[in-house]
Amino acid sequence: MTKKIPELYGSLVFNDKVMREKLPKDIYKALHRTIENNTHLELDVANAVATAMKEWAVEHGATHFTHWFQPMTGLTAEKHDSFISPLGGGEIAMDFSGKELVKGEPDASSFPSGGLRATFEARGYTAWDPTSPAFIKDGTLYIPTAFCSYSGEALDKKTPLLRSMEALSTEATKILNLLGNTSVTSVSTTVGPEQEYFLVDKDLYKKRKDLVFTGRTLLGAKPPKGQEMEDHYFGALKPPVAAFMHDLDEELWKLGIPAKTKHNEVAPAQHELAPVFETTNIAVDHNQLTMEIMKKVAEKHNLVCLLHEKPFDGINGSGKHNNWSMSTNTGVNLLDPGKTPAENTQFLIFLMAVIKAVDEYSDLMRLSVATAGNDHRLGANEAPPAVVSIFLGDELSEILDSIEKDMFFGKQKRVQMNTGAKVLPHFTKDTTDRNRTSPFAFTGNKFEFRMLGSSLSVSGPNIVLNTAVAEVLSEFYEKLKNISVDEIENAVHELVKRTIIEHKKIIFNGNGYTDEWLEEAARRGLPNMKSTPDALPCFVAEKNIKLFTKHHVFTETEIRSRYEILLEDYCKLLHIEAKTLKDMIRRDFLPALSAYTDQLACGIQTKKQVATLPCNGEQKLLATLSSYYEELFELEEKLVADTLIAESIIDMLEAAKYYHETIIPDMEEIRVIADLTEGYLPDDVLPYPNYEQLLFSI
Ligand code: ADP
Ligand code: MG
Repeated sequence: MTKKIPELYGSLVFNDKVMREKLPKDIYKALHRTIENNTHLELDVANAVATAMKEWAVEHGATHFTHWFQPMTGLTAEKHDSFISPLGGGEIAMDFSGKELVKGEPDASSFPSGGLRATFEARGYTAWDPTSPAFIKDGTLYIPTAFCSYSGEALDKKTPLLRSMEALSTEATKILNLLGNTSVTSVSTTVGPEQEYFLVDKDLYKKRKDLVFTGRTLLGAKPPKGQEMEDHYFGALKPPVAAFMHDLDEELWKLGIPAKTKHNEVAPAQHELAPVFETTNIAVDHNQLTMEIMKKVAEKHNLVCLLHEKPFDGINGSGKHNNWSMSTNTGVNLLDPGKTPAENTQFLIFLMAVIKAVDEYSDLMRLSVATAGNDHRLGANEAPPAVVSIFLGDELSEILDSIEKDMFFGKQKRVQMNTGAKVLPHFTKDTTDRNRTSPFAFTGNKFEFRMLGSSLSVSGPNIVLNTAVAEVLSEFYEKLKNISVDEIENAVHELVKRTIIEHKKIIFNGNGYTDEWLEEAARRGLPNMKSTPDALPCFVAEKNIKLFTKHHVFTETEIRSRYEILLEDYCKLLHIEAKTLKDMIRRDFLPALSAYTDQLACGIQTKKQVATLPCNGEQKLLATLSSYYEELFELEEKLVADTLIAESIIDMLEAAKYYHETIIPDMEEIRVIADLTEGYLPDDVLPYPNYEQLLFSI
């Protein structure tokens, strides 16, 4: 390492320190006002910032700039322009104006728009998001931007996220001010996303069409050893993996991404990276970058980083834990139980707001993590069930219980102040248990939403969470706003109590992996949306449209277009999987199998004719493999026919359901027979690397 880490950290980021150095004082201040108050940026400020940014970028070797945005593909998009500007006489200058910084006009017509394209002009706009710092990557200055249509409809994952953060800030500040906490002027949400991934050898990867085209193995018999010995979790890092992680950390640190923790995960070849939490908007950008850099660094190490939710059958898939909290501009974490009565009141209000929000909008929470890839995990006893519930831990549950029963925190020694205020104990992070099976767990001073799939942009789940909590806070505000100061403590107590009674059905501290819980959840009336096609329609439910439009997070048009995109994505993805499987079976697997059975048959004939040797074993094997061949042939034909039917269905929801109910089972049936067959085939007969090689070769 040439540079010391503190020097290296953020060295490619146009961060606050650089801005302070590079910008004239008044410009720096004006920019900060814009960022903090979300106000319009004046052109002279933009020009000055652009000039400073360009100078800094050129000093660091950049030749180009790009507006970097997050279209509905779930990936990021960029189009690079050089800084060069001809001066005449064959000379050039390196130029970058405020206008170029603030606004770009990429053609929107090739990005998913869910019908917005038909109604609106193809032109799209990118608008600088000054709340997320610009950075340099591969010789280009990257400017984080929001992406919208000509008429202002959001076409990306950043715009609604910023709107949801704004909504939460407004509602949270209102209620804090009402409770007498008048120094607070804004509240931001914070996120720390823990990222799981697999590493496989690049040469082996290239030989698997399924991995290349779909990111997961569609076939593959289980190796003799999987994860049953539980010897991989937190195990010593193998040198190639350690080298990869080392390089990855450095690349992330240069970009100011606070990578903190790295370790082996439960499944063989599976690992995890966790950063330190940041403001949600930046955390989302940084997680997108992290996923991209993981892939890039892996390539350099002749590895491939798999971010699919279920790359291998029979061992754990990969998820992402979205650690979430709210924090005031005065630096207080609102989900940290305080030591004083006032802090406790505040904590209880915000805790109850989250509980009520998750209960009332559990359908949206489920929807926000619904993807074809994640369907393989949720409810499969390796990830939380598809039923949303909240884990609070015994101590906090007991406290809520005593509030509900007016026992003033009964058993435990609790002080009651003369004012009537009730003091909560200051319980630390460690007093909440480590329940790993809960979809949404309180972990001492934050909530951990654990249903996300590994490849998902964390934007969606945070949009839902922020908006739902903003809504409940606004309802709380309406209930409390006309109460006099000396009555407020009791009114809050009543509100908390009522909320507990109405929403405790969402709280579950037990083992979420059991069937008993699913039965119990059904009795409690909690929705269980097992698959993506089950979950998606709730997006356009009236109550949810009302939620998003009330807080200006989505317009109804935006919701409907996003719903279309999600359905379309689901169908397209399964279509690609079906076609890939067909191809592998028809062009690779069956020919290999038939060559092998031919060889067996010849061998048998020779033995019989030449030496009349016994060959019952070979004959049995030949019969078994031949019957598998027949079966696979028929199943593959059925898959092809059903895929044609799927393609012909016009209604997207119907199509999605058909893929779920017919195509997936078709694919699973093929897999069962192919995997049985694989168990008989020598390594050199199988036309691609098997699980053993993929999982245990690094
Ligand atoms: P785990 O037990 O799941 O490994 P950790 O305590 O190590 O959890 O933290 C996991 C993640 O939670 C980290 O990314 C951390 O930065 C993040 N985190 C901690 N505090 C907050 C907070 N207030 N808001 C959001 N994320 C947080
Ligand atoms: Mg975690």
